[in-house]
Amino acid sequence: MTDIAQEELEEQILKWAEDYARKNGWTLNPDDKQLQTVIRGLARNTIRFGEQYCPCRLRSGDAEEDKKIVCPCIYHRDEVENEGQCHCRLYFQKTDA
Ligand code: SF4
Repeated sequence: MTDIAQEELEEQILKWAEDYARKNGWTLNPDDKQLQTVIRGLARNTIRFGEQYCPCRLRSGDAEEDKKIVCPCIYHRDEVENEGQCHCRLYFQKTDA
């Protein structure tokens, strides 16, 4: 996979994440550097493992078990609701500031 292909994939994932956040009434991490790090990790995992695995969680190696941590993982709604953000700091609750 070339750097260009990785960059294109990152753009696609960013658009997907923006769309997903908007649909849920959330925002993405306002810190662009942190956001790019997560997006890059998602793109790398997609290229390496064929699934958009969470870059902040450990894969068990069991494909069935690891479906839980394909982004958006099964934990993210609770995390955004209870902690204001998902574990990776990709999705954030909107603040009324
Ligand atoms: S913690 Fe966030 S970035 Fe990681 S898989 Fe869950 S929703 Fe995606």
